[in-house]
Amino acid sequence: MVLDAIRAAGTISRVELTQTTGLTGATISTVVRRLINDGLVVESGRGESTGGKPRVLLQLEPSSRYAIGINLDHAGIHYTVADLGGSIVASGSLPGAGSDSPRSVLERTVRDVDAALEAEGIDRSKVLGIGFVSPGPIHLPVGMTFVPPFMQPWAGFPLRETVESLSGLPVLLENDATASAIGEYWVGGVEHTTAFGTLFLGTGIGAGVLVNGAVYRGASSNAGEIGHVCIDVGGPMCWCGSRGCVEAVAGPGAVVREALELGVPLTGSSVAENFAELAAAAKRGEQPARGLLERSAEVVAVAAQTLANIMDLGHIVLTGPVIAIAAEIYEPAIAAQLKGTFFARLNHRIRVAVSANAAQAAAVGGAALVLHTELAPRLPGPGRPVIH
Ligand SMILES: [Zn+2]
Repeated sequence: MVLDAIRAAGTISRVELTQTTGLTGATISTVVRRLINDGLVVESGRGESTGGKPRVLLQLEPSSRYAIGINLDHAGIHYTVADLGGSIVASGSLPGAGSDSPRSVLERTVRDVDAALEAEGIDRSKVLGIGFVSPGPIHLPVGMTFVPPFMQPWAGFPLRETVESLSGLPVLLENDATASAIGEYWVGGVEHTTAFGTLFLGTGIGAGVLVNGAVYRGASSNAGEIGHVCIDVGGPMCWCGSRGCVEAVAGPGAVVREALELGVPLTGSSVAENFAELAAAAKRGEQPARGLLERSAEVVAVAAQTLANIMDLGHIVLTGPVIAIAAEIYEPAIAAQLKGTFFARLNHRIRVAVSANAAQAAAVGGAALVLHTELAPRLPGPGRPVIH
């Protein structure tokens, strides 16, 4: 609690800590001494005097601990290393999960992350753990139990156990949308709001929600599946087994399929690459790409409205690989929809923003998940890694 109060304040004195936490001066003094001995906190100078002697200010020592985030997706694997303060100190990418066996993909990834730690001179004993992020849905003890068709080899694969044994580090699992929400909250500097959400647009469409700073996880860490809300009862079949889902109607896969049906020549070897080609054409104003993406944005905007209405959000951040390449098409459609139709619009405004880390949102979120679980453990998390 004390560590999180120091993090949230930036710099803070012992006296202010007693006011913020409600703990006694003696307790604060003991806890702060221990945090300083552990190297997590340093004294950083003196604040302004309020009559007596100036107060000594405390702050986090960012380089005292690190966290790793790894995002596995069919389209690519991204990783980030964040310091204790939430700054990204290293990041990298590898080719996607593709058709290789899960074990060889993970071996390659862990080797690459190890090399990045070494290049940055980061001592492994300072690494708290790995936040491993994959497209949902996930099953916390294992990994992915139910996967999109193109990730079949990963179904039931012992993800957590394998990454732990390959890396020697504790591993937390999370789905990409929830991780991106934690990442925005932790690294993106979201201003305080009671109900905050991210709309994650990648190969899949999902949402992550934090209520009073705590992640809303649902019964099995699979809340926020806004991409599998039905918007067309008789609509196309979705891989999830339902019909007319937002993702099946307006996700990148649907947009690419419609473009191919219209005879648009696409040269990519994956949905992500073909969608990127369409986004580039749409931004140049070319038809039918422009119309296809605008139609997708219109449907996604209705999904955003649904999410905002159900959770009564005060702030929504748009993120994920699709936003990284096509924010200028999706953001105006979503903002306009919420401005005009958000149910509680007469009570409060809803802020819509685009993530500064949209392309790496899930990997940043993985690292943030580890920090969040370590530094704010009173907030519900999926289980704590052990500080070594
Ligand atoms: Zn679905």
